Amino acid sequence: MRKIFLCFLVLLFCANETLHAQPVIKGDMSKITLVIHGGAGTITRENMTPEKEKAYQEALQQALQAGYAVLKKGGTSMDAVEAAIHIMEESPLFNAGKGAVFTNDGKNELDASVMDGKTLKAGAVAGVTVVKSPITLARTIMEASEHVMLAGKGAEQFARERGLEIVDPSYFYTETRFRQLNKAKEEEKVQLDHSGDKGSLDENIFTEGNKFGTVGAVALDAYGNLAAGTSTGGMTNKRWGRIGDAPVIGAGTYANNQTCAVSATGHGEFFIRSVVAYDISALMEYKGISVKQAADEVVMKKLVQRGGEGGVIALDAKGNVAMPFNSEGMYRGYLKADGKPTVLIYK
Ligand code: ASP
Repeated sequence: MRKIFLCFLVLLFCANETLHAQPVIKGDMSKITLVIHGGAGTITRENMTPEKEKAYQEALQQALQAGYAVLKKGGTSMDAVEAAIHIMEESPLFNAGKGAVFTNDGKNELDASVMDGKTLKAGAVAGVTVVKSPITLARTIMEASEHVMLAGKGAEQFARERGLEIVDPSYFYTETRFRQLNKAKEEEKVQLDHSGDKGSLDENIFTEGNKFGTVGAVALDAYGNLAAGTSTGGMTNKRWGRIGDAPVIGAGTYANNQTCAVSATGHGEFFIRSVVAYDISALMEYKGISVKQAADEVVMKKLVQRGGEGGVIALDAKGNVAMPFNSEGMYRGYLKADGKPTVLIYK
């Protein structure tokens, strides 16, 4: 009898040890969701080549998997947003980080922002030229400064002081984007990231068949917290320190656990004037409508009436996803608790 009791004790001890070897996630894993976008615009099947489509699909899949891995381990929605955006900032396919568009004087000036839906804290950066990851700088501004938005040289100094990775401006250079600038200059227009005719993969992968190449992510973690982030190079041939909607909290990015998390892509000036991301949240809050109804109302009605082209990704605290766009296409995708990624490009 004594032996049986001892065996029972040993078994109990072993079971306890095994339990403790696993990370204990105190949350509801069934709700975890990640949604991403890689820009909206005139993205049509006719403008697409199989190589180009494959390249975008792979990059979007990779970004989804990176963010999802964070959520799956019980990481926060903010960590997931940052991880997904890192992949897209490092890919030359998107107008963010490496592969960003050029200003009129041949520079890459980057903007980004993040918002935490639980605390309603936010961080944003505008017009930086040497910070490898603008999204990480935006997050660091939120977490380690008493400010919300820093710009230009001061923001770069802050990044250096916080030990963020600094690169030579040539890191952001891609030949195709530079050609895109020369073309826009010839045509004397400020151009949104992608537009033009179908072309070969090498020649046109970055520029054709799209218009707005900003990247963004929104996530819901196992603890019921939402987060949003957006990162961009802005518009080709932009001048005078032009800043778009991406780093403007309420325009390009917004998150509130009570309503939703939103990241936008499109013609920034229209998105700023329409306070797009906050308007979606406010419609949910004041009218009690769903995230899909609110996002449709703003993107498919208000923006269309005002002539603002683009789209958003939006996610509520129950894991409902909305991805409306009023352009021809939008690079977008999502992953939910089942771990099956969905990546979409066209209407
Ligand atoms: N919204 C960005 C801007 O206006 C452009 C984009 O979405 O690609 O700067």
